[in-house]
Amino acid sequence: MIAKTPPARRRIPACGIDLPPLGRIWLCLFLLILLGLITDPAASAARKRAKPPPKPKGVTHVVVRGETLFRISQAYQVKVAILMEANRLKPSTPLRVGQRLLIPGATVVKKVDPFRPLTKEDRETLERSLSEEVTAPPPPPPVEPPRPRVKTDADLLWPIQGPINSPFGPRWGKFHAGIDIGSPNYQEVIAAADGEVIYANETRGALGKAVVLQHDRGLRTVYAHLSIIIAREGDTVRQGQPICGVGDTVRATGPHLHFEVRRNGIALNPEDYLPATIDELVRDLSQRRQP
Ligand SMILES: [Zn+2]
Repeated sequence: MIAKTPPARRRIPACGIDLPPLGRIWLCLFLLILLGLITDPAASAARKRAKPPPKPKGVTHVVVRGETLFRISQAYQVKVAILMEANRLKPSTPLRVGQRLLIPGATVVKKVDPFRPLTKEDRETLERSLSEEVTAPPPPPPVEPPRPRVKTDADLLWPIQGPINSPFGPRWGKFHAGIDIGSPNYQEVIAAADGEVIYANETRGALGKAVVLQHDRGLRTVYAHLSIIIAREGDTVRQGQPICGVGDTVRATGPHLHFEVRRNGIALNPEDYLPATIDELVRDLSQRRQP
């Protein structure tokens, strides 16, 4: 008599689970239901309805002739970098007439002052003022609030990192209208603030190649003794954008950047508008720790 042996259960080779036939059916059903939940178009559409994509908040501005990104940023009080990011714009790309720009955060469409290049007379005045590092007689002292010990809300960025080799103030019987920041040749110089390029040329005097940016509230910055100029006149530049390279053109005592800040034609001490240096921060910290 042959002993009746129970039928061998088939193994599921992949995971090695030994299940009776009914168990396998239940497992298949469970997996099918799970798959249905994941791929069910109705269910996924419902999930999408529950979480709509955030709509961009702002208005659409249609560019008209003469408008630049800087002028648009001024009209709407939105930083150039934010406009560039929202509209996927590349640096120094001119806007097209009819181009539609998203202005993040704006609620109404505003009128924009078009860009106007310097008049012949204004350009002549500017070029005359760019003839020397020094001016004579010294400019009248600006009416400015006293400089706080450590600035936390500076308007400008350092155009390059480096030591101040020659500060703003009296020098050689005249007046040094800016600061000289020591730096290797060809070091990249960045725009100290959002603005537009009103001058990018070889000056007729000792400053060599120079760039002048116009910012808001009548503020201008000057970058001189350059080796190369990247920015072009009429360009909008955002704060931090490379505009030129350090050089040692024309009688400069080694490579350095001559940097000026002017308001309505009057030279101001750039250090009053730049963030505190690491040395100043360390000095401030050690003074605070003293009893
Ligand atoms: Zn200088």
